[in-house]
Amino acid sequence: MKNLVCPICKCDFVHPHYVECKDGNDSYQTINKTRIDRSGFSHSYEIKDHDYRARTLGVINVGFRCENEHIFTISYNFHKGSTYVIHK
Ligand SMILES: [Zn+2]
Repeated sequence: MKNLVCPICKCDFVHPHYVECKDGNDSYQTINKTRIDRSGFSHSYEIKDHDYRARTLGVINVGFRCENEHIFTISYNFHKGSTYVIHK
């Protein structure tokens, strides 16, 4: 097992910061977003214009904060049975 490290400073003291779930519809034009963090729970709904082309129908973002205050995200993007993992 390996420790998760901050991609900015390589610090391996990282803490969970938030969890965020987004979903859309088959037209890729709407997003429901639910977020949980230290301040609590929030939910929002966005309608994107027709030029918006997300690659995925669903996203789970897990945010982390290192002890040097850097925030980074591991993003799980779902599309047609495939899951893409992106470190941001
Ligand atoms: Zn860091």
